[in-house]
Amino acid sequence: MNVYDSDRMEDLMNAIGYETSNTPKDADMVIINTCHIREKASEKLFSDLGRLLPFKNEKQKNGGQMIVTIAGCVAQAEGEEIFKRSKVVDIIVGPESYQTLPDLVGKVLREKKKQINLEFSANEKFDILPESKVGSSVSAFVTVQEGCDKFCTFCVVPYTRGAEYCRPIEKIVDDAKMLADRGVQEIYFLGQNVNAYRALDSSGKSLGLEHLIEKVATIPQIKRIRYTTSHPRDMSDELINAHHQIEKLMPFLHLPVQSGSNAILKAMNRKHTRQEYFKIIEKIRQKRPDIGLSSDFIVGFPGETDQDFEDTLDLVRKIGFAQCYSFKYSQRPGTPAADSKMQIEEKVKDERLAVLQKLLTEQQIAFNQQFENKTISVLFEKEAPKSTKKSVEKIIQLWGKSPHLQSVVVEVENENVAQKLLGKISQVKILKARPSSLVGTLFTN
Ligand code: SAM
Ligand code: SF4
Repeated sequence: MNVYDSDRMEDLMNAIGYETSNTPKDADMVIINTCHIREKASEKLFSDLGRLLPFKNEKQKNGGQMIVTIAGCVAQAEGEEIFKRSKVVDIIVGPESYQTLPDLVGKVLREKKKQINLEFSANEKFDILPESKVGSSVSAFVTVQEGCDKFCTFCVVPYTRGAEYCRPIEKIVDDAKMLADRGVQEIYFLGQNVNAYRALDSSGKSLGLEHLIEKVATIPQIKRIRYTTSHPRDMSDELINAHHQIEKLMPFLHLPVQSGSNAILKAMNRKHTRQEYFKIIEKIRQKRPDIGLSSDFIVGFPGETDQDFEDTLDLVRKIGFAQCYSFKYSQRPGTPAADSKMQIEEKVKDERLAVLQKLLTEQQIAFNQQFENKTISVLFEKEAPKSTKKSVEKIIQLWGKSPHLQSVVVEVENENVAQKLLGKISQVKILKARPSSLVGTLFTN
């Protein structure tokens, strides 16, 4: 979602004449879009600001001005505090108010005063944002839902992104059509709780995410549809059925469970049990046996015992995931779990994370290995960074995605072939599975 927001901020600034630069040197404006989800991500902001200072001073010395903007959830959570901690900053803007950025920039330039806007105005935001131009030309994010009303006891999102808000169906379908006309073939529906999406159609009927997927699947140029991130509580039978009925909906589901222990799930306020999670997985595997599964895990949540952690490992072993994200619990100020007296020692968190990640990596390798010697369809997005010059001959590697969201790398003979393949879906025979990618060759029969 932050990538999506960064692209939209770029659209906003382009509309008032700014161009994107790859370096802060000489930049008229620097935007740092921040994440507050874990302490480590938050703290990065202040080290980045320290590194910006010499560039800002240099610009001033040469008679120019560098406007420094802090956007995102750290801006929302820390607000004015950021001005106190760093003199470099000119604008603070939250994730639900960055549509006002051009206005704030104008005020900084005219009034020579620092600006802050932390209002929650998700509906207004989407009305004001210009047509999205920045982003990949093949695969695009479309925000369908923002915010969260679930208040898991470890999480800052309900405080930084505000209440759940769903965009109207027609606006999302219009976005998808516009992207399709620009050559986009894959749409990612985004939301903090994307499967909680509900909106009214023109006759006033309340419809869920599966309906939106069905509508966008009728756009001929759109070949692939994905959605993220889902919550187990909102995984309806209709959405599960969509994985069987809608061919363009890719066989991949990111469904965070966080823990395999019922006691910890309760303390997290997740409002689902491990048994309910197993049930959802069973249902989706019945409808779509080849589904690739992904999840998020938190280890070392306050009060987590060895047995609770063992329950998490047991859940992972029983399900078998394609790829996952796992984190050490991070105390976030203002969230209920941060005040618990049962915090877990850092050393124990480290050990548990290492054990969990070892198991998840083994599962990821096993998942990828199933594809060796098989032919799969790959949507090629760009040249892989490893395209190198070997003696006189340039080796070109293309990077694309499988239906199961694996990275696939293929070597092609020359630039002409590369250009023909980019932005298209081609059949690829998988030669080798690596832990986080597949290596293949173009399939010819
Ligand atoms: N809405 C999604 C859900 O309910 O699963 C998750 C969104 S959150 C932005 C992404 C992930 O960050 C969570 O699934 C969780 O694993 C992790 N996370 C959130 N707060 C955390 C914390 N305080 N410490 C460690 N990880 C955290
Ligand atoms: Fe955070 Fe997701 Fe829980 Fe909402 S549902 S509070 S975004 S973890």
